Amino acid sequence: MRSRIAPVALIALLSACSGSTPQPVAEPAPPDTQRIPIGQLPSIDMNAVLSHTRVLSSDAFEGRAPGTKGEEVTVNYLVDQFKRVGLKPGNTDGTYIQKVPLVGITPTPAPLVLRKGPAQQTLKWKDDVVAWTKHVAETASLDNSELVFVGYGVVAPEYNWDDYKGLDVKGKTLVMLVNDPPVPDPSNASELDPKTFGGKAMTYYGRWTYKYDIGAQKGAAGVLLIHETGPAGYPFSVVQGKIGEQFDLITPDKNMGRAAIEGWITLDQGRKLLKMAGQDFDALKQQAATREFKPVPLGVTASMTLHNKLRTIDSKNVLARLDGGDPKLKDEFVVYTAHWDHFGKNADGIFHGAEDDALGCASLIEMARAFTKLPAPPRRSILFLAVTAEEQGLLGSQYYSVTPIYPLAKTVADINMDSWNVHGRTKDLTLVGYGASDLDDYARDAAGEQGRLVHADAEPEKGFYYRSDHFNFAKQGVPALDPDGGMQFIGQPADYGQKMRDEWNEQRYHKPADVVMPEWDMTGTREDVKVFFAIGYRVAQADKMPEWKPGNEFKAKRDAVLKGAK
Ligand SMILES: [Zn+2]
Repeated sequence: MRSRIAPVALIALLSACSGSTPQPVAEPAPPDTQRIPIGQLPSIDMNAVLSHTRVLSSDAFEGRAPGTKGEEVTVNYLVDQFKRVGLKPGNTDGTYIQKVPLVGITPTPAPLVLRKGPAQQTLKWKDDVVAWTKHVAETASLDNSELVFVGYGVVAPEYNWDDYKGLDVKGKTLVMLVNDPPVPDPSNASELDPKTFGGKAMTYYGRWTYKYDIGAQKGAAGVLLIHETGPAGYPFSVVQGKIGEQFDLITPDKNMGRAAIEGWITLDQGRKLLKMAGQDFDALKQQAATREFKPVPLGVTASMTLHNKLRTIDSKNVLARLDGGDPKLKDEFVVYTAHWDHFGKNADGIFHGAEDDALGCASLIEMARAFTKLPAPPRRSILFLAVTAEEQGLLGSQYYSVTPIYPLAKTVADINMDSWNVHGRTKDLTLVGYGASDLDDYARDAAGEQGRLVHADAEPEKGFYYRSDHFNFAKQGVPALDPDGGMQFIGQPADYGQKMRDEWNEQRYHKPADVVMPEWDMTGTREDVKVFFAIGYRVAQADKMPEWKPGNEFKAKRDAVLKGAK
């Protein structure tokens, strides 16, 4: 689960548009000829959801870290529950398991040394620099690698944008800014151009994962991002959480196609580095927001050697299938995802991960049960997928999406459940990246039947859409929904939602204290889960597959996948 830091703007948005009662937006309903009203769909047993959550987040499950005893008991529990519900094995090999080979790499702390002539600047591990390697090797290093500032490091043909301008950066170390290039709106310079990189909203080009991907494609030896709290969406302390063991998938080339060293440096060190190069951070940052920007060789070299501890493990995705009832459509799948993994245990204690995301797995089980109680099976099949290693960088879902059990062209939607409201009923429901696909219309309709209003997340600039498992489906073109809880609590003061969110971020998010609490109020959770159920059910029933909305960044991929399947 991603954290939610200070969505103040949402309060403004809600009070600006709500007046006294939220008004559902009048738009045509999605094509759906066989609709059961949400109130008449089989109910979901929230006591059962709560009791699964208690079990999965109990001490006996040891924080559910991949490759530990915690994984074993978790996977066994999920498989057992899916069997009890009466679901079929989700893997075509007759099992409920998809093996996910992972490598765990732990670097020993090392400094990053920058040199220009006789001048030298040493960045301290963790305080100034956080770096790692994805190479499956005992050492990875930069050896006096030349630094090049490449602005935002973006190549986006659809925006006619290329920060490299043909410069060969093979073997060099790229220094980049995070987020999308902030391009002003030509008609209003105080706003960002909505036609370029989504305006205020962050596109995939803005995510740190993209930066390392493009660095690898360009053959760079290293990629260093200059951290800025605003554009990144989180403080450097979050980056510092990455100094320990990191897991990754293993490619046939042992990830040698990646840059040897990937990492972040603090803004302060970024400024010092550019000063050392005779440049000015703010001036370069300004240039980087233009199409005319050209990469700037800094005349500085970087050296760093990481010694790694390596281990490989076979982790597991758990998957279970409910067969569709329509002979033509049953080969098509609606996928529900939640992640079973969490952070395990350390000196601080057991990371229970009750909200994150034991509750999601519990909901998968009980939603599956509700699907079996429909008067007739849905037309399309439903896949319930509990993935591993979300907390390690969405790895289980990545593995499924690039090694799918069922063809992506036949995978009609992913509905992800990794963000919860446990504080009572709300007048609203948040859809991260609202407007991305037809799934949002389904969500709007279902929530509307409960008298609730849907809206986008308050901080599209933080790119939350790219931060949970549904994103791996989106990347492969599958329309994917990323719902989040509401913010306007019935019978509570206007700032209650924000208070609950702040409390979560400060006290429980990714901490051992994420446990089932006696004060949890599941009445709002019940409504949310019911909406997710209605969406999946109706998508499974509809004549037409859901699509990305025109202009969406994943639409081209979907079109290509569907065309390739014909
Ligand atoms: Zn999480």
